[in-house]
Amino acid sequence: MLINTTDNVTGKFRKISAIYKPTSVGEIVKIVEDARLSKIPLYPISTGFNWGYGSKSPTIDNCALVDLSKMNRILNANEISIDNPIAVIEPGVTQIQLYEFLKKNCPALTFNVTGSSNTTSIIGNSLDRGVGYFGPRKEDLFGLEVITGTGEILRTGFRRLGDASPLAFSHPYGLGPILDGLFFQSNFGIVVSACFRLYPRRPQEIVISIIPKNNNNLPALIDTLSRFKREQLINSVPHIANRARTAATLNMRMVQYLNHECKLSYEIAKEQAALALNKIIKHEWASLAVIKGNNKQVEAAVKEIKARIKNFASLRIYTENRLNFGFTLTHHVQSLIPQARIIAAAIYSILPLHRLALGTPTDVPVQNLLWKYNYPNSNAIELDQSRCGLLFISPALPTDGMLATEIIEGMKTVAAKFNHILYITINIETATSLIAVTNLLFDKTSQAETNNAHRCAAELLEFIQEKGLELYRARSDIMEQVTSISPAYWETIAALRQFFDPDNIIAPGRYNSLK
Ligand SMILES: Cc1cc2nc3c(=O)[nH]c(=O)nc-3n(C[C@H](O)[C@H](O)[C@H](O)COP(=O)(O)OP(=O)(O)OC[C@H]3O[C@@H](n4cnc5c(N)ncnc54)[C@H](O)[C@@H]3O)c2cc1C
Repeated sequence: MLINTTDNVTGKFRKISAIYKPTSVGEIVKIVEDARLSKIPLYPISTGFNWGYGSKSPTIDNCALVDLSKMNRILNANEISIDNPIAVIEPGVTQIQLYEFLKKNCPALTFNVTGSSNTTSIIGNSLDRGVGYFGPRKEDLFGLEVITGTGEILRTGFRRLGDASPLAFSHPYGLGPILDGLFFQSNFGIVVSACFRLYPRRPQEIVISIIPKNNNNLPALIDTLSRFKREQLINSVPHIANRARTAATLNMRMVQYLNHECKLSYEIAKEQAALALNKIIKHEWASLAVIKGNNKQVEAAVKEIKARIKNFASLRIYTENRLNFGFTLTHHVQSLIPQARIIAAAIYSILPLHRLALGTPTDVPVQNLLWKYNYPNSNAIELDQSRCGLLFISPALPTDGMLATEIIEGMKTVAAKFNHILYITINIETATSLIAVTNLLFDKTSQAETNNAHRCAAELLEFIQEKGLELYRARSDIMEQVTSISPAYWETIAALRQFFDPDNIIAPGRYNSLK
């Protein structure tokens, strides 16, 4: 019997034939062996919250889902320490699970958290080359244990030496060709465990915001932040958000504060939040980055950054203490001083995002979307069931401020033809590249809105590809468009897949051509 997939924020659904929820490696081997005989393809998910990229939906109909969320053990829980900062995890381990584990057992360590929700996975996100606040997660994951499409178990790097080897979980490369990369954005196999890098916390961890004085200063902001990243003056992925993105990020909690804490009616709270956002967000672009180190290192970095941006931007510094102090003070007098109320509301909405940038996962970004679409509760895992429609269409770019600005302006022009505004966050993810994370929002209960958003996304993709650029990560429903560029390259990928998965049994069409 065919069962429909659960709803999907992209508004594109696939039929699935079954759902497996294995709890062991042995069970998965059996699932793969059976699939080879039955020819029913498999689609592995870790937690399946790949919102905006396809969620749980495979690229083709009639796959069986292999839901790995029940395999959620931290396999070396007793060995993790400040001197052994590696977690060996199964696919079902979530951000909040690892966060709570470290808080309890090794608070000196943290990890590369993404802006998605508490309950998203680490392995699935990393395999789709997701990006956290500290960098691309690909850099954090190594030593994979994979079940290939032939049902064999392959361990990459020095995990091949066996778990008893002192090198098994510590050396990220191994000897010889590095196979890890073959299993990211490929679905050549099902990853059943992997090593995940943890990071030491530093005595000083602050968030800074550099805000250009003039809306035309985006190229300078991108170039400057890229240099700061290369010089390690800042220690995170700098985020540069446009006004629409910033407002959408702050709006819900501002309304909640005004409504719950200031006892304004919901309608008045919404009006006041809109007015306040206009006052607070004075410029089109605002950035956020993290500086970490000992007191002297952070002080020196702030001093240098201040000096180097003074001609075109201003600097704000946020610490937990400053934000808490500011909130206590302004909240205390909010009923007397309207300006204080606005500041208190702003701090209330910034706090979870400030903590997120420093390594505390949160559901707030997803709750913002549920709230925008009037979903009756704030349970992030229900996003796919809400009216919210979401498509990510995020080009990768070099760290060239002029070029990035030109592409973003071109994308905005395309979107305007479809009456879409773009919510954009420029993430400077490596020393030499950035991604313009761009989302289109629509009401997916409206077929007209869904079609319009998909047409808009398709034209945005054409625009990006015509410029000789590509997406950094692709939705499962656009694999044909993605693999039609550089066909010879995708033929090589197909040949590699043939080796690992000769029956094309694992996620056919996902990051590979069906032709
Ligand atoms: C508001 C919002 C904010 C977001 N912020 C971010 C962000 O900051 N950074 C970011 O990267 N994303 C972000 N996302 C996108 C997305 O929600 C996350 O990337 C999320 O972590 C992906 O879902 P998942 O972890 O459940 O992975 P899954 O959906 O389980 O898997 C993702 C992909 O990997 C494959 N896969 C999964 N597990 C395996 C396995 N064990 N073996 C082989 N293949 C596998 C799947 O087939 C799928 O293609 C955001 C989304 C929203 C709505």
